[in-house]
Amino acid sequence: MQGSVRTACPYCGVGCGILTTTEADGSVTVKGDPDHPANFGRLCSKGSALGETLGLGGRLLHPEIGGARASWDEGLDHVAARFSQTVARHGPDSVAFYVSGQILTEDYYVANKLMKGFIGSANIDTNSRLCMASSVAGHRRAFGSDTVPGTYEDLEEADVVVLAGSNLLWCHPVLYQRIAAARQRRPEMRVVLVDPRRTRTADLADSHLAIEPDSDVALFNGLLNWIVANGHVARDWVEAHTAGLGEAQVEAARWTTEAVARTTGLSGREVQEFYRLWCGSEKVVTCYSQGVNQSVAGTDKVNAIINCHLATARIGRRGMGPFSLTGQPNAMGGREVGGLANMLAAHLDIENADHRTLVQDFWQAPRMAVRPGLKAVEMFQAVADGRIRAIWIMGTNPVVSMPQADRVAEALAACPFVVVSDVVAQTDTTRLAHVKLPSLAWGEKDGTVTNSERRISRQRAFLPAPGEARADWWQMAQVGQRMGWGRAFDWPDAASIFGEHAALTGRGNAGRRDLDIGALAGLPGADYDALPPFQWPQAKAFDPARTTRFFADGGFFTPDRKARFIPVSQPAGTIAGPGVMRLNTGRIRDQWHTMTRTGRSPRLSAHIAEPYCEIHPADAARLGIGPADLVRLSAGDAAIVVRAMVSTGQKPGNVFVPMHWNGTTASAARVDALVAANTDPVSGQPASKGSMVTVRKA
Ligand code: SF4
Repeated sequence: MQGSVRTACPYCGVGCGILTTTEADGSVTVKGDPDHPANFGRLCSKGSALGETLGLGGRLLHPEIGGARASWDEGLDHVAARFSQTVARHGPDSVAFYVSGQILTEDYYVANKLMKGFIGSANIDTNSRLCMASSVAGHRRAFGSDTVPGTYEDLEEADVVVLAGSNLLWCHPVLYQRIAAARQRRPEMRVVLVDPRRTRTADLADSHLAIEPDSDVALFNGLLNWIVANGHVARDWVEAHTAGLGEAQVEAARWTTEAVARTTGLSGREVQEFYRLWCGSEKVVTCYSQGVNQSVAGTDKVNAIINCHLATARIGRRGMGPFSLTGQPNAMGGREVGGLANMLAAHLDIENADHRTLVQDFWQAPRMAVRPGLKAVEMFQAVADGRIRAIWIMGTNPVVSMPQADRVAEALAACPFVVVSDVVAQTDTTRLAHVKLPSLAWGEKDGTVTNSERRISRQRAFLPAPGEARADWWQMAQVGQRMGWGRAFDWPDAASIFGEHAALTGRGNAGRRDLDIGALAGLPGADYDALPPFQWPQAKAFDPARTTRFFADGGFFTPDRKARFIPVSQPAGTIAGPGVMRLNTGRIRDQWHTMTRTGRSPRLSAHIAEPYCEIHPADAARLGIGPADLVRLSAGDAAIVVRAMVSTGQKPGNVFVPMHWNGTTASAARVDALVAANTDPVSGQPASKGSMVTVRKA
């Protein structure tokens, strides 16, 4: 496989293009793809170290049943038989798939089709539930569809970029670089960071609004109130293209500047300056990420932001709009094929009988799911209480990453049948598998991913498949065939799955939903291989250079084509007690998720070598904790011990611990064991930034 290959980064939702070159000695060099519209050659530390993470040490290379090596036929027959038996005895809702924003769209498509159309349950959810489900729910409430309106160019063309709940420098580094470069070209551009914590992203910001955690609804309701009170409503546009401003304004009206200041902890001057800046600049993009999404009020926060953009018609035009920054490389692609328990394929609605019929006819499916399935947290609770008796986990490590991670481990240990498809042999989750299936890793697999601006890119193979590893879609398709649905799961390659997905998006879908790439249905394999990065929709003749900014004509995807203002309320704050603090979890610059790939690079591990607890000096002094002391954090019977990082960047009463360290590393610290299973009531997304923990010197 010598030569150069264009592919896409397997880490964050920026979706950078990568150029790999395999040398004669088998070594691989990695560079940013200068022609990819997401990054134009830029890469961050993680992307540029990808070449260091490619070795086969620790890989799962052969199927295993009960810890013993098995053939693929044995493994797949066993999985198909156990799933069939469980469905026959306990019904379709007794089985589940838990998949990942790391797998490719083609993998997701097959998993979703198998579960929702053939097994007859919607119990397929994904770790993307942990990162962007609140954005999905907010989009659907406001726009009638899960549509990200803008493009990355809007971030560069904006006069004001607001970063709400986003440590962009560490979590979406190349977007940070693009905004920083744009500001060098246009020094008048302004950046506002809204984040309880002072992160390194604050270095880019003209102002940092260090609001109290989870007070975003108050801040943006206050902005809506300011917009109305000061005559900034785009009356004609709002009249023609939206509904519900009056109701939203009733709730927002109580958010005077003084009330906002009281709840957010900002000064009245900070609040007013922010509102004046926001309202005084036509081109405003409000970006939001996990600080908004991972909350018991995540969906309401999203709609509070969207309400302000709708009121001022700052949407669907260059350099403006609300912008959800997706965490994972293919969280968006998973959404497109219905890889969430409450969605159908092609952005269709599982609760809409017409949509179900459309998909059932297309799939020729024998047994369509008729209601939403269990979302991630509910799914593992159902495993724990025995309602789910067989689960297939693919490309994710829930024993590290789920809230109440110890409860998840106990649930899986007691589950009658657990299948794990992974690239790594020993993870906290594979240890609990009855069947392990070896998957292809980045560089070996082939398919598509979609980034935060709706741009679909090819991930291409540049390495041979090691051992007996096979594509995730192939594993699911084989099991579908062995469960008795041969024709529906008989694809020769990823290209034919993509073609089927594209055809479904175009089937009666145009004009009703946003996602339509029907122009790419039945793409010949060679054209699929050569497919350049492109944004959806592509309903007419395919043009990869086409850049689509949704809602330019003011038409949304609701039945009356009008966007909806959503009245939203600020939730009550949490109350801390002595030694009890609010735990915020998140990423660090050079690690990814549970470190199964980035942990292989000494260079990346040198950035921050061990887990830590960031704590304000006043709290540290009160608890007798000095810099680098060991600190014990506990919640119930779960506890971790990490080093203290004493920092004024942290608010008093709050601590931050990175999410990455797992139970197989020397510095074991599965922080998600401490995270409560509280979720947003609309989206089901866990509130991973708002658990209460007891903190003391170890
Ligand atoms: Fe990869 Fe994200 Fe870094 Fe780009 S910014 S190289 S997609 S991790």
